[in-house]
Amino acid sequence: MPKFDKITIPGNGERITWDGDELQIPHHPIIPVIEGDGIGPDIMKATRRVLDAAVEKTYGDSKKLAWMDIYAGESAAAKYDGNYLPDETVQAIEHYHVALKGPLTTPVGGGFRSLNVGLRQIMDLYACVRPVSYFEGVPSPVRKPEKMDVVIFRENTEDVYAGIEWHEGSTEAEKVINFLNNTFGTSIRPDSGIGIKPISVTGTKRLVRMAIQYAIKHKRESVTLVHKGNIMKYTEGAFRDWGYQVAKDEFADQTITEDELWDKFDGNRPEGKIVIKDRIADSMLQQILTRTAEYDVVATPNLNGDYLSDACAAQVGGLGLAPGANIGDKVALFEATHGTAPKYANQDKVNPSSVLLSGVMMLEHLGWQDAADAIVAAVGQTIRQKKVTYDLARLMGDVDPLKTSEFATAIIENL
Ligand code: NAD
Repeated sequence: MPKFDKITIPGNGERITWDGDELQIPHHPIIPVIEGDGIGPDIMKATRRVLDAAVEKTYGDSKKLAWMDIYAGESAAAKYDGNYLPDETVQAIEHYHVALKGPLTTPVGGGFRSLNVGLRQIMDLYACVRPVSYFEGVPSPVRKPEKMDVVIFRENTEDVYAGIEWHEGSTEAEKVINFLNNTFGTSIRPDSGIGIKPISVTGTKRLVRMAIQYAIKHKRESVTLVHKGNIMKYTEGAFRDWGYQVAKDEFADQTITEDELWDKFDGNRPEGKIVIKDRIADSMLQQILTRTAEYDVVATPNLNGDYLSDACAAQVGGLGLAPGANIGDKVALFEATHGTAPKYANQDKVNPSSVLLSGVMMLEHLGWQDAADAIVAAVGQTIRQKKVTYDLARLMGDVDPLKTSEFATAIIENL
């Protein structure tokens, strides 16, 4: 048991542990929670209320989340003498394995590009998981938004996002350019900035493995590898090849390739088999609009995943409702996909759905599927009743917006 300075361990809670490959979930799991900055406290309060109500309604007294407040961002700086990311915050998440997090302000000059990136790097949370599906009644720019039901696994640690870059005119850029031009005969202009795009066997295989395992567990139909391998052959093309290799080497009984689907099964997916296919990233951005229903679980390198996640979210009515998680081998951190929206802080005004639905993903991760399903159904019903916060109200037209807390109450009433 770690010793904490400013974190109080709830007396009634138990630790989530690993037994081999299996997560062991007690009846009162301790869940570290970072409330977050800006709108964080408002949306997290609403979220905790709904999650607690759903768990109570579903399981009575037999199960309960034991929340444990931990600190990052401005609330940490105030408590820990200016430290935005205290060590014990990371230790708590690593020790308890599953945590929920609100949005965080990025301190200027804090050593990290952002606290969120920092948390992901320190704990090696290598998969950014974004489920995107539609809630009836949400205004959408497309005609059939209900066709969207994808779960995107975006690689979180590599690619041009690895942070290995040097600005134009720097000594480092000059050295790299000279080295490449002199050694390999490239002709990079001397006035170039340089960024490096590493994509490894390790990084790719663990991501695709997680996506396939998810598809198996949740009885999904396909896993699509999205890449730009026609141009970037040894990074993005290799991602595709290594992805197929994981499926073949480790999941031969549960998967078939799209080629096999047509060659051997005339396009009819055999019961229980997951089809592994691949698409080139630019084509995928078209296909997700025009043949939305053909896509299910997606695994993709970092930059493609960034674009694709937002494009998919836009199709079902924007980022306000999109949940997310950052997951590693031992730790899963569930979090809102938007920022701290500081101009709305403490106004009890904004939409808590992103962090609430991240909480739903967390319940699914715990195996508390009935409580998760109950919340999704209640959120759907609440939106259909046009009981929504300002962001959706103004798009729906002629709807009086609810406060964050009132929206939460409406969801609870619909549970
Ligand atoms: P933002 O997401 O905080 O806000 C942009 C706009 O989106 C807001 O002004 C608001 O109009 C709308 N919005 C966001 N969340 C909403 C919600 N729940 N309900 C209704 N409307 C909502 O993005 P930003 O203004 O670029 O960033 C503000 C701060 O947040 C920065 O410090 C940034 O670093 C940080 N940030 C944190 C995270 C994170 O913690 N994961 C992500 C993005 C940005």
